[in-house]
Amino acid sequence: MRKRINALAEQLLDTLEQKGYRSTEPRRAMAQVIANQDKHFTAEDLRKQLPSLGRATIFRSLKLLVETGMVCRVLLEDGDLHYQLSHRGHHHHLLCVECGSSQDLLGCDIEDLLQQTSARHGFELSGHWLEVYGRCNACRNVEQTVELANA
Ligand SMILES: [Zn+2]
Ligand SMILES: [Zn+2]
Ligand SMILES: [Zn+2]
Repeated sequence: MRKRINALAEQLLDTLEQKGYRSTEPRRAMAQVIANQDKHFTAEDLRKQLPSLGRATIFRSLKLLVETGMVCRVLLEDGDLHYQLSHRGHHHHLLCVECGSSQDLLGCDIEDLLQQTSARHGFELSGHWLEVYGRCNACRNVEQTVELANA
């Protein structure tokens, strides 16, 4: 009998199947673990939670999920590569360097600019990847409160 998995994991597997990727046991296990992450995660986090899967299997499945648009890569400011669930098309991330939170930044306005700049170099643009670092609203509010308390 198949192990029960949650709705989000089921949705990941359905999307994979629609794209022609069978729902194998390792993929089911991974979809379940990924669906349960509440923050961005590393391949190593998955490996710890799925000790029965090999490193190569985890990386292959992650790559597949990224290629099919269900998971996106998140590059932290210190160079660590994380992953998170993605429910949208092209987007960027606002990454807080204090609490590590990530918000999706929808609406990409830089495509035209990049087209023009690339053309000037005789370069044919095929895509871009951009992360935005800073401090989120919650972290800024905490700091303002501390400043006021010390004033
Ligand atoms: Zn994303
Ligand atoms: Zn923050
Ligand atoms: Zn963009």
